Amino acid sequence: MTVKSIEITESTTKKDKPLDEELQFGTVFTDHMFIADYSTETGWTDHRIMPYEPFKVDPAAIIFHYGQTVFEGLKAYLSKDGKIRLFRPEQNMKRLNQSSERLCMPQIDEEMALEGLKQLLTIDKEWIPKAAGTSLYIRPFVIATEPYLGVAPSTKYRFMIILSPVGSYYKEGIQPVKILVENEYVRAVAGGTGTAKTAGNYAASLKAQEIATEKGYSQVLWLDGVEKKYIEEVGSMNVFFKINGEVVTPALNGSILEGITRKSIIEMLKHWDVPVVERQISMEEIKEAHASGALEEAFGTGTAAVISPIGEFNWQDTKFVVNEGKTGELSEKLYATLTGIQTGEVEDPFNWVIELD
Ligand SMILES: *Cc1c(COP(=O)(O)O)cnc(C)c1O
Repeated sequence: MTVKSIEITESTTKKDKPLDEELQFGTVFTDHMFIADYSTETGWTDHRIMPYEPFKVDPAAIIFHYGQTVFEGLKAYLSKDGKIRLFRPEQNMKRLNQSSERLCMPQIDEEMALEGLKQLLTIDKEWIPKAAGTSLYIRPFVIATEPYLGVAPSTKYRFMIILSPVGSYYKEGIQPVKILVENEYVRAVAGGTGTAKTAGNYAASLKAQEIATEKGYSQVLWLDGVEKKYIEEVGSMNVFFKINGEVVTPALNGSILEGITRKSIIEMLKHWDVPVVERQISMEEIKEAHASGALEEAFGTGTAAVISPIGEFNWQDTKFVVNEGKTGELSEKLYATLTGIQTGEVEDPFNWVIELD
């Protein structure tokens, strides 16, 4: 594939940057954005980097009515010697295309997208925060832009990458969270869109999250959509348990989102010779493992938190506390190693990180 050129228009003004200690999640955006446009006749054209600004979209655009859209999330870090570091970005571009395939959207040129991301990061490099735990969150996404009220795949799309400096997920050190097991609402079913990062899945999850928040829980644990017996995910993270020295995580079953953090954790555990198994796990099994003392740790995994230890579950009004509500040894080690590899403080034996010059 020929790599088309990217036209760059630099912003004439620079926005004020927030202080590292004031950073939150996803509230502030950098000076530039990457765009490419698609139509069925021309394919992807007009790859460009331009000042970050709102843009016009027709009110009849398919994205607004039928939600034909996909997204990704990854992070850039700055190394001690001032180089931009990206964690497995090619995996995100690949997954964006897998999501697009499910939504009848066109494939992007993954190399072109990576090149666009690299150039965008280079232009907005000063926006990468430096304090421990902070990073520059990267949001690539594709929207259907054709004005048409019929239910059909769009003939026009826009691909964009925007950047947002984000604060440390753990302001007071890594903290276990309380989880409400969701018995009424479901996130996805096999055959649905659960394996795709597409907007509708997140809109559909808000109700359960709202109820969990009201009850004082930070996330919901999603059970399978058919029998509501088997564990799927926690919030928008994958989930792991350590039972009797063995690490288990739900097998990819057609409704679980395949996390890049999940995949990396599995590879890391194998590298350390820690037994790790992907299989079906019922909530009943977790309850029994807890009762017998075999449940040692539980944690969620995802780009935002990296590792989120679980300190308590509430399942049908029965509460059970994991590892006395404290962060487990393995959770702590996985967090330290993975974040260390991402920032460059720990050696990367897997060649996961790309460093830009
Ligand atoms: C993005 C996401 C994850 C985690 O994926 P990572 O690649 O590890 O960030 C897990 N579950 C859902 C539903 C997600 O949207």
